Amino acid sequence: MSTTSASPEDSFETLSLQSRVVAAGRPERTSDAGVNVPIELNSTFLAPGPTGYGRYGNKSWSALESAIEALECGSTLVFSSGIAAISSLFSILPRGAVITASQNGYSGTMVLLGQAEASGAAEVRYVDVSNTEQVLAALPGSTLLWLESPTNPALEVADMPRLIAAAKGQNIGVAVDNTFATPLVQQPLEMGADVVVHSLTKYISGHSDVILGSISTKDQALYQRLSDVRKINGAIPGPFEVWLALRGLRTLGVRMERAQKNALEIATRLSLHPAVDRVRYPGLPTDPHHEIAKSFMKGFGAVISFDHAGGAQAADRACAASLLVAHATSLGGVESLWERRHRWSTESPTIPTNLIRLSVGIEDLEDLWSDIDKALLGSL
Ligand SMILES: *Cc1c(COP(=O)(O)O)cnc(C)c1O
Repeated sequence: MSTTSASPEDSFETLSLQSRVVAAGRPERTSDAGVNVPIELNSTFLAPGPTGYGRYGNKSWSALESAIEALECGSTLVFSSGIAAISSLFSILPRGAVITASQNGYSGTMVLLGQAEASGAAEVRYVDVSNTEQVLAALPGSTLLWLESPTNPALEVADMPRLIAAAKGQNIGVAVDNTFATPLVQQPLEMGADVVVHSLTKYISGHSDVILGSISTKDQALYQRLSDVRKINGAIPGPFEVWLALRGLRTLGVRMERAQKNALEIATRLSLHPAVDRVRYPGLPTDPHHEIAKSFMKGFGAVISFDHAGGAQAADRACAASLLVAHATSLGGVESLWERRHRWSTESPTIPTNLIRLSVGIEDLEDLWSDIDKALLGSL
């Protein structure tokens, strides 16, 4: 005999985001049901049924999708990577679309935009997203405003409420890459954006062990189109990866709280360090983006970028010398990572060659600082 009892999903609107990360995407509360949705390992399902085939749906995907839906407040699709989510979105733009986008966003997105331009599929207007007047001037005639904020790795902050309202007032689609902030810090759909995209690889999964992406939207027709694109282009996630991401998401609240606390203190100390020229972190009161970030964000994230005073080679020496901070790309994991961004040839020319991006993890603050301080001093 199975009985169903009340579930927190019945009243998500009343729950804080901190509770939603824990409670969303759980199985129905029936007698002896598991507390977690299992890993669904099936490529096909018995007829007749709503799913039918493994490329069309999977219970593990649905669990993660409903959890992200509770955080971003929009119907959600998970993809095999963040860049798969972004390229799926770009793929439904009409030919000749005009995209207004950051001049130095995530390097993979910049490559995609460059390809769209080269093939004639789209025209791209590159802007400094933190320069509101410049973005507003670029908007008329645009098809899509693509906002990444804070940007990776320049940590510029766009005035999202103002830009989203301006774009929607002109019937321009707005998509936001919310990877750096996470829904705990800002909810773009609630600000009026049409679409929010994540690299779930980063904070949402949080343990540097999966590659995944997502798209959320309140627009049901758009959701259906994107769902069809995922079915046919096939950028579907693996059930195990999705299960890991949901497991990681459960601690997003405490991870973000701790990582952001560490990041603010480390950014403050880096600003006083002899090996550091310029620190970029919107949480610093001296940062040019601090006031605008404070006006609508509920935190500042945990990625810091800074210019090494000794130049690019000294920056490489510092990154290679740390013991606790791993010398690796990516961000948003429990472990701290750093790298000089221009070790990748795809990094934007607007990013200084001596810029180090540091993803601050949840380690002990003093252990982290002593490691960073030693590596930087030794590299001068
Ligand atoms: C990493 C990243 C992506 C790409 O995501 P993948 O999961 O690596 O494909 C997109 N946007 C931002 C801001 C990122 O940091």
